[in-house]
Amino acid sequence: MAGPTPKKPADKKPVPPKGRWNWRSPLGGPSFFGNLVTTIVVFLLLMSVYSLVAGLSQPSSEVPISTVATDVAAGKISAITVSGDSLAIVYSDGTKKTSQKDPAAGLPETLVAYGVTPAELSKVAITVQGQSGLVFWLIQLSPIILPLLFIAFLFWFLTRQVRGAGMQAFSFGQSKARVIDPSDMTQRVTFADVAGAKEAKEELFEIVDFLKNPKKFLDIGARIPKGIILMGAPGTGKTLLARAVAGEAGVPFFSISGSEFVEMFVGVGASRVRDLFQLAKKAAPAIIFVDEIDAVGRVRGTGVGGGNDEREQTLNQILVEMDGFEPTEKVVVMAATNRPDVLDPALLRPGRFDRRVTIDLPDRKDREEILSIHARKKPFGPDVNLAVIAERTPGFSGAELYSLMNEAAILAARESRREITQYDLIRSIEKVMLGPERKSHLLTKKEKGLTAYHEAGHALVSSVLPDADPVHKISIISRGRAAGYTLKLPFEDKKMQSRKQFLDDIAATLGGFVAEEMLFDDVTTGPSNDLVVITALARDMVSRYGMSEKLGPIAFGDRELGREPYSEVVAAQIDAEVSKIIEEQKGRAKEVIAGNRKALDAIAAALVERETLERDDFEKILIAHGITPKHREEEAAVAVVAATASPQP
Ligand code: ADP
Ligand code: ZN
Ligand code: MG
Repeated sequence: MAGPTPKKPADKKPVPPKGRWNWRSPLGGPSFFGNLVTTIVVFLLLMSVYSLVAGLSQPSSEVPISTVATDVAAGKISAITVSGDSLAIVYSDGTKKTSQKDPAAGLPETLVAYGVTPAELSKVAITVQGQSGLVFWLIQLSPIILPLLFIAFLFWFLTRQVRGAGMQAFSFGQSKARVIDPSDMTQRVTFADVAGAKEAKEELFEIVDFLKNPKKFLDIGARIPKGIILMGAPGTGKTLLARAVAGEAGVPFFSISGSEFVEMFVGVGASRVRDLFQLAKKAAPAIIFVDEIDAVGRVRGTGVGGGNDEREQTLNQILVEMDGFEPTEKVVVMAATNRPDVLDPALLRPGRFDRRVTIDLPDRKDREEILSIHARKKPFGPDVNLAVIAERTPGFSGAELYSLMNEAAILAARESRREITQYDLIRSIEKVMLGPERKSHLLTKKEKGLTAYHEAGHALVSSVLPDADPVHKISIISRGRAAGYTLKLPFEDKKMQSRKQFLDDIAATLGGFVAEEMLFDDVTTGPSNDLVVITALARDMVSRYGMSEKLGPIAFGDRELGREPYSEVVAAQIDAEVSKIIEEQKGRAKEVIAGNRKALDAIAAALVERETLERDDFEKILIAHGITPKHREEEAAVAVVAATASPQP
């Protein structure tokens, strides 16, 4: 059962952009396409040689030996060349003929046998070519030998490739680096395709400028950063932005993903990196993009991630390549990660990925912009107002907004409508947030009551505590893995959270657990996810944000990563503080629920009856029980925007 902050499904991994062509590393031999072209060329060559040779042996105009004898006797022939049993005859008038002699006898004997006199014979220049050996047989056998040779050649070619590629011959489908050619317009992405991320774009514009006109920078002796690392939550558009830099600058974009290295054989990853850099240098100016660099660039030597040798070698090779760059190289290396905290510090040293660009989750304005980018080619009904959707999707990443648009289009298509309506978009918000509705998942009567009280507990505590977010929807229709859910709407996009907000959040998340405990004198496995969320939150408060009075403003590192390790004593103190925070907030939740028992019952009853409560209906229940619903200060302004904004195209 989801708490006030429903856990979002993991970032749907976008399909990596497919390059226009794949290449095999030099180690692996030329690409399949290269092979095909070579094979065809060689084949054509062999064919033409064959037809030439075959043409030679083909008698152009053959005459019988008896005719030759008559012509010799008549003195019409000036020369005969004998090769094996074939005769090449040159007439006095220049015409050339061929003939065959009896293999058993020599030419003179044969002619004499046909009645040519020795005197007549002596007028003819007879030359004998010692061709009856190798060439003769070759010509005879060429129709058999040439195809055989061709097959042997093909075989040799393929085996050479297999040997060159070593073990890789058997790992088909292994992903390789991809390259996006700047002239390929269908793949081109520019800054216009990336909404929001204003600071990141500004920062990256300098790189675009350099790649467009490296001379200007190099002449003045400016050193351009070789390494830029993009940091941000999954789906915030890191990959998109990196491609946009290449698109804006019009340079080739070489990309590879860190996660692809992890499963490779030892040594392959390192050589891949070497090849990648070599290719990019040849194509310079160019961009190399290492996506998900945390997969190879984790802190080394801690055993986290299983001490993968291959990973370390790959990482080392990346470092070696970057260190070996000349400042004039005109290759910019970009990388992306959503786990900057686990990166090996060696990667972030000067001369490596020393430029860091952070991409935040989009705020309301950015969300609206992202929605309109993805709305470009979709037909919308007149009631669609993207500002309202943006307003209802705090915490959504660009990728989630993209999938929201897509879900809405699917909904419309399913119902055979030509236009997407606002309702399609609204329904898609929850689908993206929590997964599809599971109408088939029927709750028993008891489960239904329990879920209703659980969600009512969240909603009530959230509405009563001053620093918790207002509730905008409660439902006991199960979705994804949640049996029910309570959606809250933060006052604004929070960049910073205060201690009070955290505490009220924890209390509201515990509201479900507390309601179950009070009403049924028992707890179920339902709130297990709620507990995971609050435990992590409380731990962060103590060890990261310095929000514990007892331990004070100290940021304790992550012990598992081996950075800033702390003692067992401190570890025990942190655990104690976490427990204390959770205990206290549980007490506050209990107080709220016990003090508003009638309201809780009313909300739960409404849920059992109607299954879903929208904000208005929910607030009516609150007011009826003397609780004033929270209102956001800027809500009036938002309402005006919603009313006056013209429908999106
Ligand atoms: P990341 O690499 O940060 O995980 P991606 O760049 O792969 O995220 O983004 C996934 C998809 O989400 C993009 O292809 C794009 O459709 C959409 N998207 C993400 N951020 C934005 C943005 N700022 N503007 C427009 N679309 C975005
Ligand atoms: Zn819950
Ligand atoms: Mg990405």
